[in-house]
Amino acid sequence: MKRIALLSQRLANQIAAGEVVERPASVVKELLENSVDAGASRIDVEVEQGGSKLIRIRDDGQGINKEDLALALSRHATSKIADLDDLENIASLGFRGEALASISSVSRLLLASRSVDATETGGWQVEAAGQEMTPTLAPAAHPQGTTVEVRDLFFNTPARKKFLRTENTEFGRIDEVVKRLALSRFELAFSLRHNQRTVHQLQAAQSMQEKQRRIGLVCGPAFLEHAVYIDIEASGLRLWGWVCLPTFSRSQPDLQYFYVNGRVIRDKLVSHAVKQAYRDVLFHGRHPAFVLYLELQPALVDVNVHPTKHEVRFRDQRLVHDFLFRSLHKALADVRPADHMEPALEAAGMGADGQRRVESPAQQVPLGLRLDESTGELYAPPDASGAARSAAATGGWSATAAGSGGGDRGGWRPGASPVASLAEQAALYQRLSEDAEVPPLGYALAQLHGVYILAQNQNGLIVVDMHAAHERITYEHMKTASDNQSIKAQPLLVPISIAVSRAEAECAEAQADELATLGFDIARVADESVIVRQVPSILARADIEQLVRDVLADVREHGRSERISAYRDELLSTMACHGSVRANRQLSIAEMNALLRDMERTERSGQCNHGRPTWVYQSMSDLDKLFLRGQ
Ligand code: ADP
Ligand code: MG
Repeated sequence: MKRIALLSQRLANQIAAGEVVERPASVVKELLENSVDAGASRIDVEVEQGGSKLIRIRDDGQGINKEDLALALSRHATSKIADLDDLENIASLGFRGEALASISSVSRLLLASRSVDATETGGWQVEAAGQEMTPTLAPAAHPQGTTVEVRDLFFNTPARKKFLRTENTEFGRIDEVVKRLALSRFELAFSLRHNQRTVHQLQAAQSMQEKQRRIGLVCGPAFLEHAVYIDIEASGLRLWGWVCLPTFSRSQPDLQYFYVNGRVIRDKLVSHAVKQAYRDVLFHGRHPAFVLYLELQPALVDVNVHPTKHEVRFRDQRLVHDFLFRSLHKALADVRPADHMEPALEAAGMGADGQRRVESPAQQVPLGLRLDESTGELYAPPDASGAARSAAATGGWSATAAGSGGGDRGGWRPGASPVASLAEQAALYQRLSEDAEVPPLGYALAQLHGVYILAQNQNGLIVVDMHAAHERITYEHMKTASDNQSIKAQPLLVPISIAVSRAEAECAEAQADELATLGFDIARVADESVIVRQVPSILARADIEQLVRDVLADVREHGRSERISAYRDELLSTMACHGSVRANRQLSIAEMNALLRDMERTERSGQCNHGRPTWVYQSMSDLDKLFLRGQ
């Protein structure tokens, strides 16, 4: 039998390194975090051969005392926390005291520093290689701050080295780490060099414009063109940053940056809330793009749940989930056509002070649909405006736009022709030249091939997919109508008994009230069995057993379930699709204008129910470029 023995310190560090130091990028992450914690104002990163030959990180932070240099390399040595209270209120990125020890156990490490407190000139350095010897202290010429040099990563752990990918792939990951950190500390200057070539050179960013410039450098200029700036505070939580419109979606989740108190995280709860918020507007299988910052009291979030600190645990999961979901959902719903026609600065929702918040739009003008309380059906009352009547699920855009508000203030004769008559065009030009306030989507000129509406505003032309646009308007309207009545429940003729896990049964018992507000009557009848007596009527024909399992899983994980409303939205969306103007239906100019005005005031009108764009815009300068004018 084998005897038990304490691991050597070196082996213990190498085992710990397995968790923390997976690849060159993880070394860069740890070292960058140390520089940030040291209060640096600029950080220079130099990498050779994808980081496996050399990683050198230099900062101008507060440095390390000569006496502490060797200690910094030992495991469980940190200056960041002293007791458990510190851990609960942690403000630094590091606290585990194992990064330098782990890295030095699998590489040749040199740590040179000069502390703010140093009295003598010059600095000091220690060297360690695979922690075979105790590090020796030597004087070094070093300005205030710290340099860490990591050479020959994994030279003594060949198994690890085999897992490394090509130089380019590894460097790509390092680049990503630097970018992630650069977005979390605008006030820091960064540079990144690979094989003697400068890859990034980011100046410290203070003003909103400078911050946006950094966002553009890191996420690409297109990101900003499609982003809305938000800043929302509620119940002690603050969420700010940039969210992209659903039409700027990605095939990969590669433009998603989320920070909790300045820490980059990838968290299930966060991605779930974000996904929910985009549910209704994102094209199937696409991923949203965002750079978002969540701020809350440090004590309300546990960062010590994962060695690389990528995951966190919120004390009140449900509160955070709801806050994220609601804030983003609202931000996306509030976007109006005018928001993304302006130059980048404006598109990001910022005024000259760079601080404008997304505000709730003026009260929505209802399209005129009514909800029949007894049947729960939507209908258009006889006196409703033309637009309203068409929005009823009966379909078809109406003949008159009178009373639809917005742009149609006299001067417009509803005509049957899909092309503006000469008189109408004359009136249009008149209006464009006089009207200080041309609506964002402008005025209709013609219908193209029975599918698109061609319109012009003060600065260019707009093409609208009329079916897609009408579909969204109808859909949003039906949702509002259905939101105003609570969920109807329907008793099952034959109650269904379902075998569930003990945890699920406990959840059904504990969350009976929550489930009842969703329209369910679920009772626990045994340790691992529940009986369903009543379900929301809208779901009466669904697979009840699967649905109940899903809902219980949601409620357990997130404290709530959006499944009912998701299902409802799906139904309404199908209805809206069938009830909306089909291609090849001729619209009069007045009808087209009415549709444009409705789009301007409808939530999420930039995307149809399937996430496709409903309109595109070309400014005069876009057009000039197409024709090489003025070049
Ligand atoms: P941790 O960051 O969890 O404290 P590390 O192993 O990463 O653990 O670093 C150990 C200690 O070394 C830190 O607590 C800090 O005092 C010191 N240190 C590391 N890097 C730097 C740096 N760039 N500037 C100043 N001090 C540093
Ligand atoms: Mg650290």
